[in-house]
Amino acid sequence: MGGRKLLVLGGGFGGLEVARAIGRSRAARATWDTLLVDKENFFQFNPLLPAVAVGAVETRHIVYPLRDMASHRHIRFIKNKAIAIDLERRRVRLHNDLEEPFDTLVIALGSVTNYYGIPGAEAHTRPFKTIADAMLLRARVVELFEMAEQAGTDAQRRRLLSFVIAGGGVTGVEVAAELLDMVRDTLLPRYPSIHASHVSVTIVEAGERVVGTAIASHSRYVQRYLEKRGVRVILDRKVTRVEEKRVHLEDGRALEAFTITWTAGVRPPDVVTALPLAHDPDGRVRVDECLRALDPDGKPLEHVFVVGDCAARERGDGALHPMLAQTAIRMGSHVGRNLVRQAGGRAALPFTFRETGYIISLGKHSSVVELFGVRVAGRLAWLAWAFAYLVKMVGFRKQLEVAIDHLTHLVFTHDSSQILARRTVLTDAELNLSLGTREAPPAATEGPLARSDRSS
Ligand SMILES: Cc1cc2nc3c(=O)[nH]c(=O)nc-3n(C[C@H](O)[C@H](O)[C@H](O)COP(=O)(O)OP(=O)(O)OC[C@H]3O[C@@H](n4cnc5c(N)ncnc54)[C@H](O)[C@@H]3O)c2cc1C
Repeated sequence: MGGRKLLVLGGGFGGLEVARAIGRSRAARATWDTLLVDKENFFQFNPLLPAVAVGAVETRHIVYPLRDMASHRHIRFIKNKAIAIDLERRRVRLHNDLEEPFDTLVIALGSVTNYYGIPGAEAHTRPFKTIADAMLLRARVVELFEMAEQAGTDAQRRRLLSFVIAGGGVTGVEVAAELLDMVRDTLLPRYPSIHASHVSVTIVEAGERVVGTAIASHSRYVQRYLEKRGVRVILDRKVTRVEEKRVHLEDGRALEAFTITWTAGVRPPDVVTALPLAHDPDGRVRVDECLRALDPDGKPLEHVFVVGDCAARERGDGALHPMLAQTAIRMGSHVGRNLVRQAGGRAALPFTFRETGYIISLGKHSSVVELFGVRVAGRLAWLAWAFAYLVKMVGFRKQLEVAIDHLTHLVFTHDSSQILARRTVLTDAELNLSLGTREAPPAATEGPLARSDRSS
């Protein structure tokens, strides 16, 4: 193990690649004493989170233990949270009054949910960013079906089963599509008192089309697909305020929903936005062509690299590289390669990268894919989606587990068991909600799912 301290903060898509590159090179291991720090002790494969949220893929199958990687690659790992980074003293403050020094630092801390300062958004909506968020959403949907089955009136059923998803980007539409699959294929046939007209799913998107990062024809395909299956899509309307079970839009409308999920955007965590560096408006750190952090005067810091969702780097057309897994992977492997070159006394290479395309999953019936200029939508695209993400999974075991999940899910419906404690998925007020017939039914939202019937 080398003598120079390399500290990698974050073991996600970007940080993992840095650590793997160092671990693979004997010269780099002889130069760097590498420590990977992550607040979790696992890597999570985000693209399959919406599938986890409905049980189409098992929770454990999309996580990979960071300790396994660390021991295979001969680097050190600790599970702790970075609280503050002192660039001048070259130290990172961690929980439990711990500190880690560094000679070279890689910041790969990903992103957190961005509420854009919208009043009530953080307090009254549920984020969709972590394994725990996905598990809670699934448990909540099933729990609400159990409650609705016992409800005294149709109005109560409609109220309990009203969902709003704020944000019609990739995550928002994927969550909506998976949710619909679970509702139609699994839940409606098993809950005799509940009819499709009791369930409403609404997506609110501030832009003029859903999945604005996709080509226009794919946006139209996704919107048509969702609307045909009963999702109400509201475009070109910003959320201005959120209250308990109510979303206010800029046109003055208010949408009632028992569950509001926030998928409207992400930003780097506070520990990154607080750094005295050059940032772009959403808080990402500006980096030079070798992915070194730029100070407020635009001068690169030789010993600080930033990758993934935390890094703002222009691509050829002047726009910033999007906050995507493929960007993080390429940035991480590039910084890793440059650190290996540095260990061998060679000069750093500039970062160049063109995105390969995108894959948007619409549940088990469809997807849209644009890869290397080839555009496909429909069932064939679903196969491309399943295969592409299988290849990207970390390790053969995870690939096998997810492949079995996909096959099982093609043949069988979702599992409708709800194994979490009720108090972890419902608030106190929801737990004690009166469902008796004598209660005056509250105003309910008539969602577009009401137009579909159970068999369609
Ligand atoms: C639901 C969802 C679906 C997505 N789907 C896709 C998709 O289909 N395709 C695609 O390309 N991209 C997708 N993305 C985006 C993609 O996951 C991110 O762009 C990518 O993860 C960024 O990589 P990263 O290394 O910057 O951060 P991450 O992979 O998020 O890793 C950051 C790591 O830092 C750790 N961390 C954070 N804060 C601290 C701290 N203070 N101290 C210590 N550790 C910390 C975290 O635990 C995490 O392990 C999706 C994201 C989400 C949330």
